[in-house]
Amino acid sequence: MPPPIASKLPKVGTTIFTVMSQLAAEHKAVNLGQGFPDYMPPAPLVEALARAMAEGKNQYAPMTGLPALRQAIAAKVKRCYGRDVNVDTEVTVTSGGTEAIFDAVQAVVRPGDEVIVLDPAYDCYEPAVDLAGGRTIHVPLDPQDFGVDWDRVKAALTKRTRAVMINTPHNPCGAIFSKWDMEQLAALLEPTGAFLISDEVYEHIVYDGRRHESVLRFPALADRAFAVSSFGKTYHCTGWKVGYCVAPPALSAEFRKVHQFVTFATSTPAQAAFAEMMAKHPEHDEGLSAFYQSKRDAFAEKLRGTRFRPLPVPGGYFQLVDYSAVSDLDDLAFCRWLTIEKGVTAIPLSPFYEAPPKGQRLARLCFAKADATLVAGIERLGRI
Ligand code: PMP
Repeated sequence: MPPPIASKLPKVGTTIFTVMSQLAAEHKAVNLGQGFPDYMPPAPLVEALARAMAEGKNQYAPMTGLPALRQAIAAKVKRCYGRDVNVDTEVTVTSGGTEAIFDAVQAVVRPGDEVIVLDPAYDCYEPAVDLAGGRTIHVPLDPQDFGVDWDRVKAALTKRTRAVMINTPHNPCGAIFSKWDMEQLAALLEPTGAFLISDEVYEHIVYDGRRHESVLRFPALADRAFAVSSFGKTYHCTGWKVGYCVAPPALSAEFRKVHQFVTFATSTPAQAAFAEMMAKHPEHDEGLSAFYQSKRDAFAEKLRGTRFRPLPVPGGYFQLVDYSAVSDLDDLAFCRWLTIEKGVTAIPLSPFYEAPPKGQRLARLCFAKADATLVAGIERLGRI
């Protein structure tokens, strides 16, 4: 018998994504739940990975990331957001956005510190804060349009606030921050010593001609921020688990102390492949919004022919649907029913909240799927 173990994360179970994907597989449902593309990454990227391995790039990468990849990231940050970042002291490659978020939290949060998150919030934020001994303060987004009520954020800021975590474009809601939002945030943080952890993994997926308001565009924010991104979203390869963090030198130095002992270094051949892809095909990032916008539009159009009501999607690759015309089940029960009885898997929203709004009847569908998968899903939804 092992000795009894008192959980350090008593509130955490298996993530809703794993639970729903397993249920989808068991019931042969069309899986529009978990956020991963079911199509290939760009061919030059796959070729570059194979070549990197064949060329012998198979041993530990430098702890901070391959220089060529850090250079490509710095060049992209300059091109997209106009900020000069030092390749050696401000850019760190990580094993996915998840690792970068974890490292940033561990780097700054101490026991008793408070960290503000905006609900619904991506599920890896709070456990990272818990493990650091911090306390997560949940501020709800507007339940109608998922905008931020900055007065509520202001009211939540205290002397103990060590960090604020934001996510734009937003998972699960698809909302994006405007320039005005970023200015509100800058004004709120200006008199505080709080850091900003900015989850921008969907940075290249923003629709209808809008632009992504990265913290890296705003010096007052960038000077206190850990800006996190993920190649998994940009290059259709969530399974490769490569991301990065851009932060000022003093913040990056502390971030790297954690990264050094969480993973030490990230996959060498994958880093070599991304470095080559970014240098040779910068147009890939620029075309991503158009690629997903046509999927978003076709999917929403077909949904309008069903009893599910699609909500607006300004960014990211998730479509929220209101299912109140179909069922009055709560969202967890509804998503199970939809998978088991109707053969389509969606993700409920309530696990993303500390206190989900009463009576909310929303589910998240992922449209980063091949057209055939989306059509198969819609056919089943249309029969309900
Ligand atoms: N943040 C958000 C909002 C995400 O949706 C995801 C991936 N689902 C991540 C972070 C994690 O990124 P990665 O897969 O690179 O760890």
